[in-house]
Amino acid sequence: MVINYLALAVPFFLFFIWLEYYIAQKQGKSYFKFNSSIANINVGIAERLIDLFTAGGFYFFYDYLHTHFAIFDIQPSILLWIALLLATDFLWYWYHRFGHEVNLFWGFHVVHHQSEEFNYTAATRITIFQSVVRTAFWSVLPIIGFPAEMITTILLVHGIYPFFTHTRLIGKLGILEYIMVTPSHHRVHHASNEEYLDKNFGDMFIIWDKLFGTFAEEKEEPTYGLTKQLGSYSFLWQHFHFLVEIGYAAKTEKGLLNKLKVIFGRPSSFSPDMRHKAEKKFLAVRKVKVHTTKFRTYVVAQIAFIIIALFLLLLFEHYIPLFLQVMVALFILITLINCGAIMEQRRWVFYLEFVRASLVTITTYYYFPSPTLTGMLILLLITGIAYFSSLQKQYLRLIYGKRKFFE
Ligand SMILES: [Zn+2]
Ligand SMILES: [Zn+2]
Repeated sequence: MVINYLALAVPFFLFFIWLEYYIAQKQGKSYFKFNSSIANINVGIAERLIDLFTAGGFYFFYDYLHTHFAIFDIQPSILLWIALLLATDFLWYWYHRFGHEVNLFWGFHVVHHQSEEFNYTAATRITIFQSVVRTAFWSVLPIIGFPAEMITTILLVHGIYPFFTHTRLIGKLGILEYIMVTPSHHRVHHASNEEYLDKNFGDMFIIWDKLFGTFAEEKEEPTYGLTKQLGSYSFLWQHFHFLVEIGYAAKTEKGLLNKLKVIFGRPSSFSPDMRHKAEKKFLAVRKVKVHTTKFRTYVVAQIAFIIIALFLLLLFEHYIPLFLQVMVALFILITLINCGAIMEQRRWVFYLEFVRASLVTITTYYYFPSPTLTGMLILLLITGIAYFSSLQKQYLRLIYGKRKFFE
């Protein structure tokens, strides 16, 4: 039996999130907030999910470059593994620094920094877009001559190590503070305090920051998140808001050169009005006024369900046909959007239930094309549409509790 051991990353990271939560509770520290933690984990779920379809592509890309352009014929040895670890970390430093200093790259990396809480759930905020940018930076490695197997193995180290630097439970680590990136260093990186901005870009080693003058020691208590907090837990908005803002800013500029200046300029010189403009256009939808936390049970149940689905999907990747993989992946993505929208108290979550029902119907029909079953499902769908508005009312009452439906 060929199972995908990378799936074990899911319970592995969940265990440490639980452990950190447990210890923090015991020590009476409130390091976790419901909406923020769920939103963080949702970003991580999407990343693991999409990785299922893209990991092979990254490997192929490195392998292609290695086969066609490798300068040296590198064979794995202890020294060369160490050299590769240093090289990837050096490239990581620059990839990360560009992620903060160039608007377009910040548009992708900003997702990692939206959490107002700093805990292991924030570590899961990684997106596929970041992986694409990182791969571009790392493409020099196969050209030097490092084989794709070596690079993707080192990628695992860079996947695990930084997870553990996202915590407030661990203080300073003595001598390690001089060489490694520690939780203290990374707390500074996630802070919006003036003196901490654009500091500590390193992933594993802090030496690059010291070398290139971007190092800052943790002195005063950091305030976490963006300098201008997003204040939204919407899955889609968190992923795309800054790209939308860049779009608006580029639109207002005249001439190609000025537009390019916006896209590749510095986030610090970016007009804050764009956020307002984008929010007005994309977020000004009717909300439900909620004073309860009733929806939490529904959100937690959905997240638990899709985490199990994701784990099984990854574990038995080689046995699940592509059609089913795609359908399950779409179901999980819609669920992530659904949970984000519920935490934002959007009314349109109800439409997403129809999308999910349709996905289940299509999949059922694909495997069991019986006319009776199809007839029943279509009948159910027609009934749903016929009683749409009363169903919607019932549904919103069920998840949000009893109160006025309009703002
Ligand atoms: Zn960063
Ligand atoms: Zn981080």
